[in-house]
Amino acid sequence: MTALAEPLAPFAEIVRRGEPLARHTTLRIGGPAEYFVVPRSREQLVAAWRACRAEGMPVRMLGGGSNLLVDDDGVPGAVFHTALLKGAVWDGARVRVEPGFGLERLCREAAERGLAGMEGLVGIPGTLGGAISGNAGGRHAEIGSVVEEVEVLDLDGGERRFPRADCGFEYRRTKLAPFCIAAIVLRLRPGADPAALKETIRRIHEEKASTQPLAAHSAGCLFKNPPGQSAGRLIDEAGFKMQRVGGAMISDRHANFVLNVKQATGADVSALARQIQNKVQRRTGILLEPEIRRWPGGWA
Ligand SMILES: Cc1cc2nc3c(=O)[nH]c(=O)nc-3n(C[C@H](O)[C@H](O)[C@H](O)COP(=O)(O)OP(=O)(O)OC[C@H]3O[C@@H](n4cnc5c(N)ncnc54)[C@H](O)[C@@H]3O)c2cc1C
Repeated sequence: MTALAEPLAPFAEIVRRGEPLARHTTLRIGGPAEYFVVPRSREQLVAAWRACRAEGMPVRMLGGGSNLLVDDDGVPGAVFHTALLKGAVWDGARVRVEPGFGLERLCREAAERGLAGMEGLVGIPGTLGGAISGNAGGRHAEIGSVVEEVEVLDLDGGERRFPRADCGFEYRRTKLAPFCIAAIVLRLRPGADPAALKETIRRIHEEKASTQPLAAHSAGCLFKNPPGQSAGRLIDEAGFKMQRVGGAMISDRHANFVLNVKQATGADVSALARQIQNKVQRRTGILLEPEIRRWPGGWA
């Protein structure tokens, strides 16, 4: 077996080499991570992150892989998976969660406790860390609105705290993207009726199931909505529903969802995305901005 790169040698029991990222993305696409690190505690996360950064190794955070397109050649450096960092400590209307905690589960637990503010976020797959990084949300809510504070590790390995006002929460964007989100403190609204919250959750699930291809392998919306416009409508009007490149196809149910219908590659999805951008821009003058993050180099 090949020796681990020097900075990760002390962490051998939590590191795998060449782990296929297709196993960890909802699109089921993606080549290998050079090093795949699965910390079992915050202490291990901090120590391994610092060790990598001290040697200048590239580092990335992976949650549920539900907003990611990973290239077929994979990614260099270390990918830190938060699958085992799932603690949550409730204190009245406040909860401090680790980044691998599932967003859907937290929405349900908040409803059980009669705490409002999360119920509009149901039906969004993935983890709290991923949700915070991209200010996940939709027409009912955005996660940023219930954040009190986010604890991060920066690229020098320093621990920093960002109160909500400093996180830069905007539409599917924050200032936190380069960092490791190590914990999140949310403040919810107490005194709500659990039955009413559960009814809202049921209704939003029903609404999503009727408009989105939830059973298919996708990564949610491919493009952001341009100001005052619907990306899905622009893509539909450009004639892309059910259009394919290789194994990647635009959903017939929601034109902003790209699906992996038959062993699609990252190259298939990015070629289809480019075709859409070009045609929509020719027709409307609008350049659609990808919502799905692409590894390793981004979309540029
Ligand atoms: C069927 C379906 C429906 C969806 N609906 C919605 C929707 O309504 N609204 C919406 O906003 N999104 C939606 N999405 C997209 C996706 O679920 C969200 O963006 C989600 O919040 C991503 O979380 P994740 O844990 O899967 O992140 P990942 O895909 O693992 O990562 C996404 C980004 O977050 C970063 N990240 C992850 N964890 C951390 C961390 N701990 N620290 C720092 N950075 C981190 C990654 O580096 C990456 O850049 C949908 C996806 C699917 C498949």
